[in-house]
Amino acid sequence: MYVQRKSKVHQRKSKHIPRSPLCQYGSHGGTLVVDPFAVAVSIVGGTKGGAIGYGGSLLVAGMVPNPPDGMTWTLGEFTNLFLSTLKSLSKDVVGFKSIAAYHSGLNINPLVTSEEADDGLHKDLHASVPIRIRNKSFVDYIFTCSLEVAASSDLPMQIHIGFGDTDLDLRHANLLHLQPILEDDHFKNCHIVLLHTSYPYSKEASYLSSVYPQVFLDFSLGIPKLSVYGMCSAIKELLELAPLNKVMFNTDGYAFPETFYLGTKWAREVITSVLLDACDGGDLSIQEAIETTQKILRGNAINFYKLDEDTTQIMKSKVVNVAADYHTQYLEMKEGTVHRLPKSLDEAVIALKRMKF
Ligand SMILES: [Zn+2]
Repeated sequence: MYVQRKSKVHQRKSKHIPRSPLCQYGSHGGTLVVDPFAVAVSIVGGTKGGAIGYGGSLLVAGMVPNPPDGMTWTLGEFTNLFLSTLKSLSKDVVGFKSIAAYHSGLNINPLVTSEEADDGLHKDLHASVPIRIRNKSFVDYIFTCSLEVAASSDLPMQIHIGFGDTDLDLRHANLLHLQPILEDDHFKNCHIVLLHTSYPYSKEASYLSSVYPQVFLDFSLGIPKLSVYGMCSAIKELLELAPLNKVMFNTDGYAFPETFYLGTKWAREVITSVLLDACDGGDLSIQEAIETTQKILRGNAINFYKLDEDTTQIMKSKVVNVAADYHTQYLEMKEGTVHRLPKSLDEAVIALKRMKF
């Protein structure tokens, strides 16, 4: 079964310009991306920098402050700033991430009109304080605009799928809602990554990746959040139909060093267990299982995001910085005092161990 599905991944053209891996992290994936919604949040809020990526999107998740005094937003002003910001970021990132699932859901209308989006923007602006982006037409518009930028920049779009927190309606986070987007000729060249093991829609994700060349999978959050049985069964479901070169490791690590450590530890153990079962069942030979492990844990992501040694080194340092930064914020919140920023992941781990809970 696995062997038959070694279909060639649709290869993306490599750019000649070396690209640094990322400038920010997505709000939930921890996956080397910029979140278009976070960008939207920062733009509507009138601050271009602060809310991009981890810095603010995790906390505000679609909430925006009032526009500055005397300022009103039109869809045209919003779109110009939004698109120019995304385009300028596109040189420094390896992909975008959407959390549309947290807003109005994944049933995105690829044909949403600017009139509908304009109406939605004004409804959101006048609905509540702080303002929250939840109007479906406006969210759909942001999503489709982002996807166009991603496609024209030859960057993939990661999409939050499935479980999250109570701010998300799981019914609207079902990836099957994405079919109109996947079928739309306008977006067929944009590579899509279905994040978070797509749990509990892992089987559906596996199916979509087998029928749509542009769909790829990643198993962040499912590992290490689920039970051991849950991790194994979800990864098995993900591999039931998916081509083996379309599935990628991701820890979903954020804030604490342990999230990176546990994601890595359990990914290795679960992949080993699942692929050994595949060998037992006759799907793979031992040699194929070894090659598959290398692909899933490393090679697929390196090829997909077009990473090289330099970029992976920069990524490592950014991961350390993000973890250390969050660790410091947590200490400050916990103890009400200002602490020195840990200089390294090791130092953050030591500091974390010394904490009294
Ligand atoms: Zn997410």
